[in-house]
Amino acid sequence: MESLLRPSPFLTLSTSQLKNCYSLLNPSVFSPKQSINPRKCRNRIKSSKFDSFLDLEPTSKPEAIDFDVSWVNPSDHRSRRFDVIIIGAGPAGLRLAEQVSQYGIQVCCVDPSPLSMWPNNYGVWVDEFESLGLEDCLDKTWPMACVHIDDLRTKYLDRAYGRVNRKELKQKLLSGCVMNEVKFHEAKVWKIEHEEFESSVVCSDGVELKASLIVDASGFTSPFIEYDKPRNHGYQIAHGILAEVEDHPFDLDKMLLMDWRDSHLGNEPYLRRDNSKIPTFLYAMPFSSNLVFLEETSLVSRPTLSYRDIKRRMVARLRHLGIKVKSVKENEKCLIPMGGPLPKMPQNVMAIGGNSGIVHPSTGYMVARTMSLTSILADSIVECLGSTRMIRGSPLYHKVWNGLWPVERRCIREFYTFGMETLLKLDLDGTRGFFDAFFDLDPQYWEGFLSSRLSLVELAMLCLSLFGHASNPSRLDIVTKCPAPLIRMMGKMAIETI
Ligand SMILES: Cc1cc2nc3c(=O)[nH]c(=O)nc-3n(C[C@H](O)[C@H](O)[C@H](O)COP(=O)(O)OP(=O)(O)OC[C@H]3O[C@@H](n4cnc5c(N)ncnc54)[C@H](O)[C@@H]3O)c2cc1C
Repeated sequence: MESLLRPSPFLTLSTSQLKNCYSLLNPSVFSPKQSINPRKCRNRIKSSKFDSFLDLEPTSKPEAIDFDVSWVNPSDHRSRRFDVIIIGAGPAGLRLAEQVSQYGIQVCCVDPSPLSMWPNNYGVWVDEFESLGLEDCLDKTWPMACVHIDDLRTKYLDRAYGRVNRKELKQKLLSGCVMNEVKFHEAKVWKIEHEEFESSVVCSDGVELKASLIVDASGFTSPFIEYDKPRNHGYQIAHGILAEVEDHPFDLDKMLLMDWRDSHLGNEPYLRRDNSKIPTFLYAMPFSSNLVFLEETSLVSRPTLSYRDIKRRMVARLRHLGIKVKSVKENEKCLIPMGGPLPKMPQNVMAIGGNSGIVHPSTGYMVARTMSLTSILADSIVECLGSTRMIRGSPLYHKVWNGLWPVERRCIREFYTFGMETLLKLDLDGTRGFFDAFFDLDPQYWEGFLSSRLSLVELAMLCLSLFGHASNPSRLDIVTKCPAPLIRMMGKMAIETI
């Protein structure tokens, strides 16, 4: 959609593209019967300097990280055999490479661009990164967060939040990899083949690499992981910008976790009606009085809310808040599959990160949890490949999959997925009621829930407490909308424990 809004290619746009463009800029007045004059549309865009940020091109270009890593030498056949090959150098892949290699396991990490900067802006709770010893990889922290439930109700959360310094975190993981002699190969993995005790990957440059275990950390769209149940994910979809603004209304000592207010849609009856059915919220990290990261987010939807609707709501919201975007430094298109079934277990390829089911089914967060679960996976790998017993083939696959997903963790995930299924059923009023009660809970519950660290018993206590804190309409919502997902969850838990 960005390309639609650049002035130069307008004359090559199709009629439907022009309609999209026009309705984006004038959502309240668009009607399908109106004829569109491309010249008017172009003028509108030129004059839209402070009306909409959508026509602004990001000013900063992602730069590669200047780091000396050790590369695979494809012409040396002996140097193409490893204990573990990790596909992907995202947060999950690099963290696992760093963790598993410190026990002397020979690791190769394959990625089309291992030294590129990660594209996403990651937010985490500061205590999560502190417990991992990664607090030096946050470039900005806010001592508090806040949630606007509606125009009258705001929650102040006494929990510090931080923005991950992508460069710092990547450099830290890379330097661990270098110290532990991880090899890198710059290519895309095209194919994985298996023999009884060994697997190989065939890369886009024709190079073939072999290992006892292949771990796929190539993110949400991986083609290498198999599922044996229908993939009925919900999706988080969001549009984010790191923007230089004239001014903004946010307190600099608080990050805005969620703004569910909808007063910005007062003059937009269609947007308001749609938002009351499938609501979106604003997430904002204010860095200074004129630099802010803003993201309009649909927490979870199925089918996915359209990206176009997200942007239209964001334009209306920023206008209402009086935020005039002078330049867009970065923009971020976010689509995160949430919930759905876990991968088939065990299977010959191990998964970690976006493709492994560890994204939080109710929030879409994953980075901090990935950083902690990779050490559990590393332990299972080391137990098999680091000992003189050399457990390989099927027993190895069993061990690593069950190490990452023991029965209790699978049941807990069912619980979080139940949370997602419940959120999917709530409209704007229901969502507001839910978060009003949720953030009134004892912090050990809401903090533990958001950081995936509650046991099954604690999750059951949370549910009871949530019901106790809920308003009567919210209780009615729970009683009428939760039974079906609750029964499904109980059924799945029963299957997991058999
Ligand atoms: C826009 C966005 C914002 C997010 N914000 C947050 C947040 O604030 N907090 C949070 O906790 N989570 C967030 N998430 C969720 C999640 O943490 C991220 O998606 C995270 O990047 C997932 O890490 P990953 O290592 O699994 O995959 P990725 O980061 O996607 O990395 C995968 C790597 O594998 C490589 N690759 C892909 N295919 C192949 C192949 N065939 N061969 C070799 N290499 C391959 C890719 O090039 C890439 O380098 C966000 C997600 C998105 C999309």
